[in-house]
Amino acid sequence: MEGKKITKVLIANRGEIALRIIRACKELEIQSISIFSTIDASGVWVRKADESYLLEGDPIQVYLDYKNIVAVAKELGADAIHPGYGFLSESPEFAQHCIDNGLIFIGPKPEHIALFGDKMASKVAMKAVGVPVIEGTDEPITNMDDAVKIAKEIGFPVIIKAAFGGGGKGMRIVKKEEDFIPMFEAATKEAERFFGRGDAFIEKYLSNPRHIEVQIVADKYGNVIHLAERDCSIQRKHQKVVEIAPSPRLNNNVRRELLRTSKKAMIKLGYESVGTIEYLVDEDDNFYFIEMNTRVQVEHTITEAISGVDIIYRMIRIAEGQKLPFMQEDIKFRGYAIEFRINAEDPKLGFFPSSGRITSYLSPGGPGVRLDSIGHKDYIVPSNYDSMIGKLIVTGLDWEGVVRKSRRALDEFIIAGIPTNIPLHRQIVRDEDFKEGIFNTTYLDQKLPTFTLDAIHEIEDDQAKYEHIAAIVAALKITNK
Ligand code: ADP
Repeated sequence: MEGKKITKVLIANRGEIALRIIRACKELEIQSISIFSTIDASGVWVRKADESYLLEGDPIQVYLDYKNIVAVAKELGADAIHPGYGFLSESPEFAQHCIDNGLIFIGPKPEHIALFGDKMASKVAMKAVGVPVIEGTDEPITNMDDAVKIAKEIGFPVIIKAAFGGGGKGMRIVKKEEDFIPMFEAATKEAERFFGRGDAFIEKYLSNPRHIEVQIVADKYGNVIHLAERDCSIQRKHQKVVEIAPSPRLNNNVRRELLRTSKKAMIKLGYESVGTIEYLVDEDDNFYFIEMNTRVQVEHTITEAISGVDIIYRMIRIAEGQKLPFMQEDIKFRGYAIEFRINAEDPKLGFFPSSGRITSYLSPGGPGVRLDSIGHKDYIVPSNYDSMIGKLIVTGLDWEGVVRKSRRALDEFIIAGIPTNIPLHRQIVRDEDFKEGIFNTTYLDQKLPTFTLDAIHEIEDDQAKYEHIAAIVAALKITNK
């Protein structure tokens, strides 16, 4: 049942996920290759990989030029490619090109990547295997009169979504009929600009839903398990900010049904590798599929924390053709884990991305703390990429304990020189509703006006304290001489 052992992996990515994959490779004694753009040369992951290869050219395009990446992988003797998340991770052409060139693509089959890359087609496919979907259109909208008619039938508010979209782009919430046409046009234009395809569809807009997603792990032999759910309701502009596993207030019957339905659907579809099925759960506890991500997700860490399964390691073993060494009953979930995305952005400037040199960096530690980050003193955060520089993952045996530990860990975490969203996280973990586990996707919009996000002052105070201590130490060293 074993296929070919992987000996050398090229990581078609950058940043913290590249580092995460390198770490898994080291543990497995697999050689790792990082590729890097000219501005990423000082990235910590570039130094940690066994080999690194400079890709000259546009700093974003080089990570998207899949033909060149495959050529480099072959030239350097890699036998597999891990795509991480973002960039080429959801490109069926890339996955196929790897396979055509004799390389193992560490991820799902190209046909599944293609299917779930189309949100509308994936809703149709999931419905066919028994997964509830949100009421809406299941064919591309070509006629505006029909679109308005359907929207009226569904009833406002509705949400317009880009079929090939992601990252909250090409999405519009329409509250009134008269806004529909201009918003539809704006959504399709945005989708065209970001994804090269303007196809859009309409869905009922749920009020106050929770975003709950299920982690799936499947081998090549039809063995599928779930690794419980994650609650990713705490979002800004439809983008996840804090993720939690398991969901603290999800009804147990709903949870059981959600996990069972997800697993069954994946068995029927013959899915392999890891993947995440995303749902919205409404106020009456109905759940609806919204999309599936056919790759490792940013927040896989919290699932690792509560399940003990190393998801990247498992992805590699599955890609080699190894059968899952455990069954559903073997997985025991323990406690709670919270992931805080650490973004270089300024909470005082509407979370505008920040870039520049980190002048001091004190990382948190101690019991229950994991830090997946590329930040360090003197690292220059580039402005070209996503603003996430790391993830703080805190684990505890119960909800109260994990919140308490998170507060302590966030207070320990000091990044100075550039603004970050750490002050936002410090407010969230002190919020009474959060402490009670009460939140839905509207949580941050409601709370932000009540939070004090004195980012700069707080950081400067911490920085001053740090420098004061450093000065005392320096003085002591001099007197000791
Ligand atoms: P993307 O791929 O762009 O991230 P998703 O379809 O995953 O888009 O949705 C992202 C977020 O947008 C969801 O977590 C939720 O907060 C919101 N959302 C999406 N669809 C709906 C809906 N039908 N009703 C209410 N909120 C929605």
